[in-house]
Amino acid sequence: MSATKVAPQAQLDEFLAQSKASSFLDPAFAAFMDEHDPLKHLRSEFVIPTRGQIAPGADRADESCIYFCGNSLGLLPKTVSRYVNEELQVWGEAGVNGHFNHRFGRPWVRIEETVQEQSARLVGAKKEEVAVMNTLTSNLHTLFAAFYTPTAERHKVLIESKAFPSDHYAIESQIRWHKLDPKDSLICQEPREGEFLLRTEDILETIEKHGHEIAVVAFSGIQFYTGQYFEMEKITKAAQAKGCIVGWDLAHAAGNVPVQLHDWNVDFACWCSYKYLNSGPGGIASIFVHERHANSLDRNRLAGWWGHDKATRFDMVNVFKPMPGAAGFQHSNPSVLTTTALLGSLSVFEMTTMQEMRAKSYLLTGYLYHLLMNEISRDVLDIITPADPEQRGCQLSLVFKRGKMMDIFEGLAARAIIGDERKPDVIRVAPTPLYSRFEDVRKFVTELKELIAEIYN
Ligand SMILES: *Cc1c(COP(=O)(O)O)cnc(C)c1O
Repeated sequence: MSATKVAPQAQLDEFLAQSKASSFLDPAFAAFMDEHDPLKHLRSEFVIPTRGQIAPGADRADESCIYFCGNSLGLLPKTVSRYVNEELQVWGEAGVNGHFNHRFGRPWVRIEETVQEQSARLVGAKKEEVAVMNTLTSNLHTLFAAFYTPTAERHKVLIESKAFPSDHYAIESQIRWHKLDPKDSLICQEPREGEFLLRTEDILETIEKHGHEIAVVAFSGIQFYTGQYFEMEKITKAAQAKGCIVGWDLAHAAGNVPVQLHDWNVDFACWCSYKYLNSGPGGIASIFVHERHANSLDRNRLAGWWGHDKATRFDMVNVFKPMPGAAGFQHSNPSVLTTTALLGSLSVFEMTTMQEMRAKSYLLTGYLYHLLMNEISRDVLDIITPADPEQRGCQLSLVFKRGKMMDIFEGLAARAIIGDERKPDVIRVAPTPLYSRFEDVRKFVTELKELIAEIYN
């Protein structure tokens, strides 16, 4: 399995021949794929809940559950427990001295630096372009404060019509903050009648038509509901050609697909770390500010002491001198426990690369896609996520027809299979490449077929 652009189906067909299994649903095929998976050793870096823990009373209680919800909250890497416990130990033993004198070599006064370079690598950024800080929605506000500077001619923001609610609320409130009305200043890109996905050509057409009055284009890299991976580079380029600033919310893209923020010339981006980055509930978030902005003082920014020059931070002189790079956008001293949790989680990512993960993800989600399309009737299920693997990450969004989604969801839960439901009719499943197996995908589809036979009969 190498990082090729061969369609996953062609690769899967070849592996089927090599495995000598009778079909894709034959356990021998999944076993062959897991055996030859170059990332298989990473699964043991995680704590995987058992069937008994997830569905009390389930048979085979000690077997691991099937966890396809890494798009919402990634599983616990074992290193995270160790690192966080070490911080508690230092706090207990050293109190305030832990800021400077730390027996595990992570003095709190510079804790954010321990995760900066690895975070930057994951999103194709230079180290100085990334700061690990705050939480996602707060960071979106922080970045809008610096980058959304509406004028009479250029005051609009272009977003997806089905943006994640928090992003929609944040951006609407930013527009009002400037005493503008979202009715005039917010453009929501709608899918075509009867479609779920946004077509790149339609987004580009909006940019072409309204670009001169758009201040900021703010999309998600991967759409949380449909799993669509937008053509980030193309959209960024087209919008910048019209003079717009382009920002991306990478909540569902970071740790999922190999983005190249610096090379794609993105203006700003933000993401959380508790989804594909496995740093734990409410984990610390990150921002990207392209170096051409990060080192410029032309933009006003919301300031705080942690963005101030380190050499004089504790002199308390009250003359703000920002640190170079994205670090100059920080406000507060960061949460050490969540930063250290992220450090533990990133240490697993350091054992591989986004390219290797993407290569496995292609096959794993490609396998899921193939089985669902071939084993289950279109009368029961549709997949709204793009069929083209270049336009999606791990996640597939399954539409269950005839009002049966909740029955299926509860049936899966009783079998210790975790995805997540989005009303009215979608279940999202994301086999993440760090800890999911081909056998998990095979079992999922096998069990789903049984459930469908019961529920739809
Ligand atoms: C998960 C997610 C959020 C959540 O925001 P928090 O500030 O972390 O609560 C926001 N936006 C998008 C696009 C998300 O996927």
